Amino acid sequence: MSDCIVIGGGLIGMLTAHELASEGMVVTLLERGEVARESSWAGGGILSPLYPWRYPEPVTRLATWSQNMYPQFCADLESRTGIDPEWIQSGLLILDSGDRFQEKQQMLAWAKESGSTIEVHNGNPVHYEPGISVDPCEYILMPDVAQVRNPRLTKAVKASLDDKGVHIVEHAEATQLLHIKGKIEGVLTDARKYFANTVVIAGGAWSASLLQKLVPEINVEPVRGQMILFRAKPGDLKHIVLTEEMGQARYLIPRKDGRILAGSTLEYQGFDKSTTQEGLDALRHFAINLLPGLAEVEIENHWAGLRPGSPQGVPYICGHPEVEGLFINAGHFRNGVVMGPASARLLSDLILKREPVVDPSSYTVGALRG
Ligand SMILES: Cc1cc2nc3c(=O)[nH]c(=O)nc-3n(C[C@H](O)[C@H](O)[C@H](O)COP(=O)(O)OP(=O)(O)OC[C@H]3O[C@@H](n4cnc5c(N)ncnc54)[C@H](O)[C@@H]3O)c2cc1C
Repeated sequence: MSDCIVIGGGLIGMLTAHELASEGMVVTLLERGEVARESSWAGGGILSPLYPWRYPEPVTRLATWSQNMYPQFCADLESRTGIDPEWIQSGLLILDSGDRFQEKQQMLAWAKESGSTIEVHNGNPVHYEPGISVDPCEYILMPDVAQVRNPRLTKAVKASLDDKGVHIVEHAEATQLLHIKGKIEGVLTDARKYFANTVVIAGGAWSASLLQKLVPEINVEPVRGQMILFRAKPGDLKHIVLTEEMGQARYLIPRKDGRILAGSTLEYQGFDKSTTQEGLDALRHFAINLLPGLAEVEIENHWAGLRPGSPQGVPYICGHPEVEGLFINAGHFRNGVVMGPASARLLSDLILKREPVVDPSSYTVGALRG
């Protein structure tokens, strides 16, 4: 018998298992498929919400805590596992003109409050990115924004879990929560029962289905995001570049080896994870418009992932109000990578009855969202 069962082997479940195992708990992690093949594999790994001032304070709170942790966390992971999560402080260049900067007051107030550096520039952003094609405009630079490469980060975290003795069971779908007289007892999978006094639901976009009977009010839904990857060269782009096209945030992310990711779409299509020609065309068109040199560059990959959407992007990080020992860490929407370490730490604080690292009240099931 384990002390804790974590359901879901995405980044959130793995980081939660990591925290708990680091505190000496015996942890079993159940994953329906293979670990880190869903949203946590598919994401861009930008360590900041896009237009972060548009998010409510509970998102900023988790993001800021994690941003401070990430450099050391990645360095530790690399030294323990030999896998480099590719934490790079690329900086974020936001190219927007006109109306957007009516948001300026909100943006500057947010920067002051969160202690983030925002530089407002007027002129031609080619000063920072010679390859891009854009008219002179007002634009901003957030020089501190960093990125990680999701598949590498999750591979490193998995190796570290193995090291800490976490029992990872792949191809084990949790089908039912076992509880009696208001206490959790374990989990039923398609193959057998697992027993523990603590169970964490970290099933990403699928979390609500497991909780339907116990927490009908939980609001987590799949939101598809497509991405494409260009086989570009180092130096073609240095910063993460973000802009908005017909109300959709679009970005380019330069990886350490020069490859460039273009993302992303935001689609409400249920649990359908397929890619579409329309998505590919839209992303390619955006990318080439912004960085014309990409017209000559091969598109190496095209994929989609399902974000765990939640109202206002505020995750559920809490214990169940009536079932003792049942906890939730889900609903991180567009920001699960940047909010991940703080979310795992906060949930572990609640489980271990420690002083919570941030105020937990905004993340309960009953907290107002939206
Ligand atoms: C295109 C795209 C771009 C993104 N870009 C960014 C970004 O730049 N920065 C950022 O911070 N975030 C980004 N995100 C969001 C981020 O990837 C997610 O918020 C985060 O990965 C969610 O992690 P998770 O562990 O909750 O979910 P997942 O990674 O989806 O993991 C959930 C896991 O639970 C398993 N599971 C579900 N049900 C069961 C069950 N019953 N039994 C066993 N296992 C189960 C699933 O198989 C899955 O492996 C992006 C997402 C997408 C799709």
